[in-house]
Amino acid sequence: MLPDVQKLIELQQADREILRLKEEIAALPKRVSTIEAKLAGTKAVLEKAKAAIKTDEAARRKYETAIQDLQQRISKYRDQSLEVKTNEQYKALLHEIQFAEQDIRINEDKILELMVNAEAREKDVKAAERELKEETAEIEKEKADARQRTAEDEKQLAEWNAKRDHLRSAIGADLLRHYDRVSKYRGTGISEARDHKCLACQVMLRPQTYNEVRAANEIVFCDSCQRILYHDPTHDKPVEPVVTHKRRRPHPKFESSQAWYYRSSFEEHGEVLLAFINDHGRSRRRVFDLATGREIGDILEREGEYRLAFPEDLSDAIRLNGSWTEAEMDEWGRELPMVILDVLHRDLDLAREESRPRAKDEAIASEHSAAS
Ligand SMILES: [Zn+2]
Repeated sequence: MLPDVQKLIELQQADREILRLKEEIAALPKRVSTIEAKLAGTKAVLEKAKAAIKTDEAARRKYETAIQDLQQRISKYRDQSLEVKTNEQYKALLHEIQFAEQDIRINEDKILELMVNAEAREKDVKAAERELKEETAEIEKEKADARQRTAEDEKQLAEWNAKRDHLRSAIGADLLRHYDRVSKYRGTGISEARDHKCLACQVMLRPQTYNEVRAANEIVFCDSCQRILYHDPTHDKPVEPVVTHKRRRPHPKFESSQAWYYRSSFEEHGEVLLAFINDHGRSRRRVFDLATGREIGDILEREGEYRLAFPEDLSDAIRLNGSWTEAEMDEWGRELPMVILDVLHRDLDLAREESRPRAKDEAIASEHSAAS
Protein backbone atom coordinates (compact mmCIF):
# COMPACT_ATOMS: atom_id res chain seq x y z
CA MET A 1 0.00 0.00 0.00
CA LEU A 2 1.21 3.53 -0.76
CA PRO A 3 2.37 5.34 2.41
CA ASP A 4 0.09 8.33 1.72
CA VAL A 5 -2.90 6.02 1.32
CA GLN A 6 -2.09 4.26 4.60
CA LYS A 7 -1.92 7.69 6.29
CA LEU A 8 -5.23 8.72 4.72
CA ILE A 9 -6.92 5.60 6.10
CA GLU A 10 -5.63 6.56 9.55
CA LEU A 11 -6.65 10.18 8.99
CA GLN A 12 -10.17 9.10 8.09
CA GLN A 13 -10.32 7.05 11.28
CA ALA A 14 -9.13 10.09 13.26
CA ASP A 15 -11.70 12.34 11.55
CA ARG A 16 -14.46 9.85 12.36
CA GLU A 17 -13.44 9.56 16.02
CA ILE A 18 -13.23 13.34 16.36
CA LEU A 19 -16.74 13.70 14.93
CA ARG A 20 -18.11 10.95 17.20
CA LEU A 21 -16.53 12.49 20.32
CA LYS A 22 -17.79 15.97 19.48
CA GLU A 23 -21.31 14.61 18.98
CA GLU A 24 -21.13 12.73 22.27
CA ILE A 25 -19.89 15.78 24.16
CA ALA A 26 -22.75 17.83 22.67
CA ALA A 27 -25.33 15.15 23.52
CA LEU A 28 -24.43 14.79 27.22
CA PRO A 29 -26.09 18.05 28.46
CA LYS A 30 -29.18 17.11 26.45
CA ARG A 31 -29.52 13.94 28.53
CA VAL A 32 -29.36 15.95 31.72
CA SER A 33 -31.94 18.43 30.46
CA THR A 34 -34.31 15.58 29.55
CA ILE A 35 -34.22 14.32 33.14
CA GLU A 36 -34.59 17.88 34.40
CA ALA A 37 -37.79 18.25 32.36
CA LYS A 38 -39.08 15.02 33.90
CA LEU A 39 -38.22 16.36 37.34
CA ALA A 40 -40.17 19.57 36.66
CA GLY A 41 -43.15 17.45 35.63
CA THR A 42 -43.07 15.51 38.90
CA LYS A 43 -42.82 18.79 40.86
CA ALA A 44 -45.94 20.07 39.10
CA VAL A 45 -47.83 16.86 39.97
CA LEU A 46 -46.85 17.24 43.63
CA GLU A 47 -47.95 20.87 43.78
CA LYS A 48 -51.27 19.99 42.16
CA ALA A 49 -51.88 17.21 44.71
CA LYS A 50 -51.07 19.59 47.59
CA ALA A 51 -53.34 22.29 46.17
CA ALA A 52 -56.19 19.75 45.91
CA ILE A 53 -55.85 18.97 49.63
CA LYS A 54 -56.04 22.70 50.46
CA THR A 55 -59.16 23.11 48.29
CA ASP A 56 -60.79 20.15 50.05
CA GLU A 57 -59.97 21.58 53.48
CA ALA A 58 -61.54 24.92 52.54
CA ALA A 59 -64.65 23.15 51.28
CA ARG A 60 -64.88 21.17 54.51
CA ARG A 61 -64.73 24.35 56.59
CA LYS A 62 -67.49 25.84 54.43
CA TYR A 63 -69.75 22.80 55.04
CA GLU A 64 -69.04 22.84 58.79
CA THR A 65 -69.98 26.54 58.99
CA ALA A 66 -73.17 25.83 57.07
CA ILE A 67 -74.09 23.06 59.56
CA GLN A 68 -73.51 25.42 62.49
CA ASP A 69 -75.73 28.06 60.87
CA LEU A 70 -78.48 25.51 60.27
CA GLN A 71 -78.30 24.24 63.86
CA GLN A 72 -78.64 27.82 65.15
CA ARG A 73 -81.60 28.35 62.87
CA ILE A 74 -83.31 25.18 64.19
CA SER A 75 -82.94 26.23 67.83
CA LYS A 76 -84.40 29.64 66.91
CA TYR A 77 -87.40 27.91 65.27
CA ARG A 78 -87.84 25.75 68.43
CA ASP A 79 -87.92 28.89 70.59
CA GLN A 80 -90.46 30.49 68.28
CA SER A 81 -92.67 27.36 68.32
CA LEU A 82 -93.27 27.85 72.04
CA GLU A 83 -94.85 31.24 71.43
CA VAL A 84 -97.08 30.51 68.37
CA LYS A 85 -100.81 31.07 68.66
CA THR A 86 -102.26 28.99 65.80
CA ASN A 87 -101.85 25.45 64.64
CA GLU A 88 -100.91 26.67 61.08
CA GLN A 89 -98.02 28.74 62.41
CA TYR A 90 -96.77 25.73 64.41
CA LYS A 91 -96.90 23.46 61.34
CA ALA A 92 -95.00 26.03 59.27
CA LEU A 93 -92.17 26.18 61.84
CA LEU A 94 -92.02 22.39 62.01
CA HIS A 95 -91.58 22.35 58.23
CA GLU A 96 -88.71 24.86 58.44
CA ILE A 97 -87.02 22.66 61.05
CA GLN A 98 -87.35 19.58 58.82
CA PHE A 99 -85.84 21.47 55.83
CA ALA A 100 -82.89 22.65 57.95
CA GLU A 101 -82.27 19.12 59.26
CA GLN A 102 -82.27 17.82 55.66
CA ASP A 103 -79.68 20.46 54.69
CA ILE A 104 -77.51 19.42 57.63
CA ARG A 105 -77.51 15.79 56.40
CA ILE A 106 -76.56 16.92 52.86
CA ASN A 107 -73.61 18.90 54.28
CA GLU A 108 -72.57 15.98 56.49
CA ASP A 109 -72.55 13.63 53.48
CA LYS A 110 -70.32 16.06 51.61
CA ILE A 111 -67.88 16.20 54.53
CA LEU A 112 -67.79 12.38 54.64
CA GLU A 113 -67.06 12.27 50.92
CA LEU A 114 -64.17 14.72 51.40
CA MET A 115 -62.75 12.60 54.22
CA VAL A 116 -62.72 9.52 51.98
CA ASN A 117 -61.07 11.55 49.20
CA ALA A 118 -58.49 12.91 51.60
CA GLU A 119 -56.90 9.46 52.01
CA ALA A 120 -56.38 9.17 48.23
CA ARG A 121 -55.04 12.73 48.08
CA GLU A 122 -52.48 11.96 50.79
CA LYS A 123 -51.35 8.90 48.86
CA ASP A 124 -50.89 11.03 45.70
CA VAL A 125 -48.75 13.52 47.59
CA LYS A 126 -46.61 10.79 49.17
CA ALA A 127 -46.07 9.08 45.78
CA ALA A 128 -45.11 12.35 44.09
CA GLU A 129 -42.71 13.19 46.92
CA ARG A 130 -41.06 9.79 46.66
CA GLU A 131 -40.71 10.13 42.87
CA LEU A 132 -39.22 13.59 43.25
CA LYS A 133 -36.65 12.30 45.69
CA GLU A 134 -35.64 9.46 43.34
CA GLU A 135 -35.43 11.73 40.33
CA THR A 136 -33.38 14.29 42.22
CA ALA A 137 -30.88 11.57 43.16
CA GLU A 138 -30.85 10.32 39.56
CA ILE A 139 -30.19 13.75 38.13
CA GLU A 140 -27.29 14.30 40.52
CA LYS A 141 -25.76 11.00 39.46
CA GLU A 142 -26.41 11.73 35.79
CA LYS A 143 -24.79 15.16 36.10
CA ALA A 144 -21.73 13.65 37.78
CA ASP A 145 -21.50 10.96 35.07
CA ALA A 146 -21.87 13.56 32.33
CA ARG A 147 -19.09 15.66 33.85
CA GLN A 148 -16.78 12.65 34.07
CA ARG A 149 -17.64 11.42 30.59
CA THR A 150 -17.14 14.86 29.10
CA ALA A 151 -13.72 15.12 30.73
CA GLU A 152 -12.73 11.71 29.31
CA ASP A 153 -14.07 12.62 25.87
CA GLU A 154 -12.21 15.93 25.89
CA LYS A 155 -8.99 14.11 26.70
CA GLN A 156 -9.51 11.60 23.87
CA LEU A 157 -10.49 14.41 21.54
CA ALA A 158 -7.23 16.22 22.26
CA GLU A 159 -5.28 13.02 21.52
CA TRP A 160 -7.12 12.40 18.24
CA ASN A 161 -6.67 16.03 17.22
CA ALA A 162 -2.93 15.76 17.80
CA LYS A 163 -2.82 12.51 15.81
CA ARG A 164 -4.86 14.13 13.04
CA ASP A 165 -2.55 17.17 12.84
CA HIS A 166 0.47 14.89 12.74
CA LEU A 167 -1.00 12.78 9.90
CA ARG A 168 -2.08 15.83 7.91
CA SER A 169 1.40 17.31 8.02
CA ALA A 170 2.79 14.05 6.58
CA ILE A 171 0.41 13.74 3.57
CA GLY A 172 1.00 15.42 0.20
CA ALA A 173 -0.77 18.80 -0.09
CA ASP A 174 -2.65 18.05 -3.34
CA LEU A 175 -3.89 14.69 -2.09
CA LEU A 176 -4.94 16.19 1.20
CA ARG A 177 -6.88 18.94 -0.61
CA HIS A 178 -8.69 16.29 -2.64
CA TYR A 179 -9.46 14.26 0.49
CA ASP A 180 -10.81 17.37 2.28
CA ARG A 181 -12.96 18.41 -0.65
CA VAL A 182 -14.59 14.97 -1.07
CA SER A 183 -14.95 14.53 2.71
CA LYS A 184 -16.74 17.87 2.95
CA TYR A 185 -19.42 16.83 0.46
CA ARG A 186 -19.63 13.09 1.10
CA GLY A 187 -18.64 12.65 4.74
CA THR A 188 -15.64 10.44 3.86
CA GLY A 189 -12.72 10.93 1.47
CA ILE A 190 -11.24 7.45 1.12
CA SER A 191 -12.93 4.15 0.37
CA GLU A 192 -12.00 0.50 0.14
CA ALA A 193 -12.31 -1.19 -3.26
CA ARG A 194 -13.53 -4.77 -2.91
CA ASP A 195 -15.05 -7.26 -5.38
CA HIS A 196 -14.63 -4.73 -8.20
CA LYS A 197 -16.73 -2.19 -6.31
CA CYS A 198 -16.19 1.06 -4.46
CA LEU A 199 -17.57 0.15 -1.02
CA ALA A 200 -18.56 3.75 -0.22
CA CYS A 201 -20.75 4.45 -3.28
CA GLN A 202 -21.32 0.79 -4.33
CA VAL A 203 -20.57 1.56 -7.98
CA MET A 204 -18.71 -1.06 -10.05
CA LEU A 205 -15.21 0.02 -11.00
CA ARG A 206 -13.82 -0.30 -14.51
CA PRO A 207 -11.45 -3.30 -14.79
CA GLN A 208 -8.46 -1.02 -15.41
CA THR A 209 -9.31 1.09 -12.36
CA TYR A 210 -9.69 -1.97 -10.14
CA ASN A 211 -6.39 -3.39 -11.42
CA GLU A 212 -4.65 -0.09 -10.68
CA VAL A 213 -6.04 -0.02 -7.13
CA ARG A 214 -4.86 -3.58 -6.55
CA ALA A 215 -1.41 -2.85 -7.95
CA ALA A 216 -1.11 0.17 -5.59
CA ASN A 217 1.56 1.91 -7.64
CA GLU A 218 -0.29 5.22 -7.88
CA ILE A 219 -3.21 7.08 -6.31
CA VAL A 220 -6.52 5.95 -7.86
CA PHE A 221 -9.88 7.72 -7.53
CA CYS A 222 -13.41 6.32 -7.81
CA ASP A 223 -14.84 7.63 -11.10
CA SER A 224 -18.26 7.85 -9.52
CA CYS A 225 -17.77 9.44 -6.09
CA GLN A 226 -14.19 10.78 -6.47
CA ARG A 227 -13.07 9.12 -3.23
CA ILE A 228 -9.48 7.91 -3.06
CA LEU A 229 -9.48 4.10 -3.39
CA TYR A 230 -7.42 1.45 -1.64
CA HIS A 231 -7.41 -2.32 -1.73
CA ASP A 232 -6.95 -4.60 1.26
CA PRO A 233 -5.85 -8.08 0.07
CA THR A 234 -6.90 -9.65 3.38
CA HIS A 235 -10.51 -8.80 2.48
CA ASP A 236 -10.41 -10.74 -0.82
CA LYS A 237 -12.67 -13.76 -1.06
CA PRO A 238 -10.66 -16.89 -0.24
CA VAL A 239 -9.67 -18.76 -3.38
CA GLU A 240 -11.56 -22.06 -3.69
CA PRO A 241 -9.38 -24.90 -2.50
CA VAL A 242 -8.06 -26.81 -5.49
CA VAL A 243 -8.84 -30.52 -5.41
CA THR A 244 -6.76 -31.94 -8.23
CA HIS A 245 -7.96 -35.53 -8.14
CA LYS A 246 -11.59 -34.38 -8.41
CA ARG A 247 -11.34 -31.57 -10.90
CA ARG A 248 -8.60 -32.21 -13.37
CA ARG A 249 -7.08 -29.22 -15.04
CA PRO A 250 -7.41 -29.45 -18.83
CA HIS A 251 -3.98 -29.69 -20.38
CA PRO A 252 -2.99 -27.03 -22.86
CA LYS A 253 -3.09 -28.23 -26.46
CA PHE A 254 0.31 -28.05 -28.06
CA GLU A 255 -0.90 -27.76 -31.64
CA SER A 256 -3.04 -24.67 -30.86
CA SER A 257 -2.26 -21.49 -32.72
CA GLN A 258 -2.15 -19.55 -29.45
CA ALA A 259 -0.21 -20.22 -26.25
CA TRP A 260 -0.02 -18.58 -22.84
CA TYR A 261 2.91 -18.91 -20.44
CA TYR A 262 3.87 -17.72 -16.99
CA ARG A 263 7.40 -16.65 -16.10
CA SER A 264 8.64 -15.71 -12.63
CA SER A 265 10.82 -12.99 -14.16
CA PHE A 266 11.15 -11.24 -17.50
CA GLU A 267 13.96 -8.82 -18.33
CA GLU A 268 13.90 -6.20 -15.54
CA HIS A 269 10.27 -7.05 -14.66
CA GLY A 270 9.04 -9.54 -12.09
CA GLU A 271 6.29 -12.08 -12.74
CA VAL A 272 4.73 -11.87 -16.21
CA LEU A 273 2.27 -13.56 -18.53
CA LEU A 274 3.34 -14.22 -22.13
CA ALA A 275 0.94 -14.70 -25.03
CA PHE A 276 2.16 -16.15 -28.36
CA ILE A 277 0.21 -16.25 -31.63
CA ASN A 278 1.24 -18.32 -34.64
CA ASP A 279 0.15 -16.74 -37.88
CA HIS A 280 1.14 -18.12 -41.32
CA GLY A 281 4.74 -19.03 -40.51
CA ARG A 282 5.28 -15.96 -38.31
CA SER A 283 4.65 -15.48 -34.57
CA ARG A 284 3.83 -12.54 -32.31
CA ARG A 285 4.51 -12.13 -28.60
CA ARG A 286 2.71 -9.97 -26.02
CA VAL A 287 3.91 -9.58 -22.41
CA PHE A 288 1.70 -8.59 -19.45
CA ASP A 289 2.43 -7.80 -15.81
CA LEU A 290 1.05 -10.70 -13.71
CA ALA A 291 -0.37 -8.52 -10.92
CA THR A 292 -1.89 -5.64 -12.88
CA GLY A 293 -2.45 -7.21 -16.31
CA ARG A 294 -0.83 -4.15 -17.87
CA GLU A 295 1.03 -4.75 -21.14
CA ILE A 296 4.81 -4.47 -21.00
CA GLY A 297 6.51 -3.15 -24.13
CA ASP A 298 5.15 -3.57 -27.65
CA ILE A 299 4.04 -6.63 -29.62
CA LEU A 300 7.13 -8.41 -30.95
CA GLU A 301 6.88 -10.28 -34.25
CA ARG A 302 9.42 -12.83 -35.47
CA GLU A 303 9.88 -15.23 -38.34
CA GLY A 304 8.73 -18.81 -37.65
CA GLU A 305 6.46 -20.63 -35.25
CA TYR A 306 6.75 -19.23 -31.67
CA ARG A 307 8.66 -22.26 -30.26
CA LEU A 308 11.43 -21.68 -32.71
CA ALA A 309 11.18 -17.90 -32.75
CA PHE A 310 11.16 -17.26 -28.95
CA PRO A 311 13.10 -20.19 -27.35
CA GLU A 312 14.65 -17.93 -24.67
CA ASP A 313 11.15 -17.13 -23.27
CA LEU A 314 10.09 -20.74 -22.88
CA SER A 315 12.75 -22.10 -20.54
CA ASP A 316 11.42 -22.28 -16.93
CA ALA A 317 8.01 -21.07 -18.17
CA ILE A 318 4.72 -22.65 -17.05
CA ARG A 319 2.29 -23.35 -19.87
CA LEU A 320 -1.25 -22.06 -19.17
CA ASN A 321 -4.70 -22.62 -20.68
CA GLY A 322 -6.06 -19.66 -22.59
CA SER A 323 -7.60 -19.02 -25.96
CA TRP A 324 -8.87 -15.74 -27.28
CA THR A 325 -8.92 -14.43 -30.83
CA GLU A 326 -6.34 -11.88 -31.83
CA ALA A 327 -9.20 -9.44 -32.55
CA GLU A 328 -10.37 -9.81 -28.94
CA MET A 329 -6.86 -9.23 -27.72
CA ASP A 330 -6.62 -6.06 -29.80
CA GLU A 331 -9.82 -4.82 -28.14
CA TRP A 332 -8.31 -5.17 -24.66
CA GLY A 333 -5.92 -2.36 -25.45
CA ARG A 334 -2.87 -2.15 -23.23
CA GLU A 335 -4.38 -4.05 -20.31
CA LEU A 336 -5.89 -7.50 -19.65
CA PRO A 337 -9.52 -7.27 -18.49
CA MET A 338 -10.00 -8.38 -14.90
CA VAL A 339 -11.99 -11.47 -15.89
CA ILE A 340 -9.23 -12.66 -18.25
CA LEU A 341 -6.58 -11.95 -15.63
CA ASP A 342 -8.59 -13.92 -13.06
CA VAL A 343 -8.91 -16.92 -15.42
CA LEU A 344 -5.14 -16.95 -15.99
CA HIS A 345 -4.38 -16.50 -12.27
CA ARG A 346 -6.66 -19.41 -11.41
CA ASP A 347 -5.09 -21.63 -14.07
CA LEU A 348 -1.64 -20.73 -12.81
CA ASP A 349 -2.68 -21.71 -9.28
CA LEU A 350 -4.01 -25.04 -10.59
CA ALA A 351 -0.85 -25.68 -12.60
CA ARG A 352 1.34 -25.04 -9.55
CA GLU A 353 -0.91 -27.17 -7.34
CA GLU A 354 -0.84 -29.98 -9.90
CA SER A 355 2.93 -30.19 -10.01
CA ARG A 356 3.36 -30.28 -6.22
CA PRO A 357 1.45 -33.29 -4.75
CA ARG A 358 2.33 -35.55 -7.68
CA ALA A 359 6.05 -35.06 -7.12
CA LYS A 360 5.54 -35.87 -3.41
CA ASP A 361 3.48 -39.03 -4.17
CA GLU A 362 6.13 -40.30 -6.55
CA ALA A 363 8.82 -39.72 -3.96
CA ILE A 364 6.84 -41.71 -1.37
CA ALA A 365 6.16 -44.49 -3.90
CA SER A 366 9.85 -44.88 -4.78
CA GLU A 367 10.79 -44.97 -1.09
CA HIS A 368 8.32 -47.81 -0.56
CA SER A 369 9.61 -49.85 -3.48
CA ALA A 370 13.19 -49.37 -2.28
CA ALA A 371 12.30 -50.59 1.22
CA SER A 372 10.51 -53.77 0.12
ZN1 LIG B 1 -17.12 5.49 -5.14
